[in-house]
Amino acid sequence: MVTVNKYLYEDDFGQKICSCSEKQEYKVLFREVNETELKTNEVEAVTKASIYKMEKLVVMCTECKEIYFISLSFEGSFKSQYVTLESVEIFDGEVVEARNLINRIYSEYEDVMVDIATDDYVIKVLSKSEDDEKTNTRYVYLNREDSILYADLQNE
Ligand SMILES: [Zn+2]
Repeated sequence: MVTVNKYLYEDDFGQKICSCSEKQEYKVLFREVNETELKTNEVEAVTKASIYKMEKLVVMCTECKEIYFISLSFEGSFKSQYVTLESVEIFDGEVVEARNLINRIYSEYEDVMVDIATDDYVIKVLSKSEDDEKTNTRYVYLNREDSILYADLQNE
């Protein structure tokens, strides 16, 4: 299932990412999601993990505007969720470089099943498959309205 989160928080990462403040609010600039949802019956779904995700994210701290490249894995059931941060890297280049980088990464995804475009973001659904046991969806999300990332273009 394709879900759009414009912002993520400490709970979504299972820990603090940026040490600048307690706010822990992050704008999602880019996200690649590979999600597998198991078809469990309702009783099992409460206790057993039924959603597995691998994600690559580029997020910006809404307080200090630092940009982070993150990869994580996620296991979730109806009751609980476990997030494992595989890597967290602070981006030390210019904002425009970050923008160019994530736009280039986004453009390199080919074999797109569905393109979704709004004023604020674009999504490519890369694949979707389903069998008796599970549904798998891969998609990428790109923000394209961030006022800092696109400041030079918005002023023109
Ligand atoms: Zn920060």
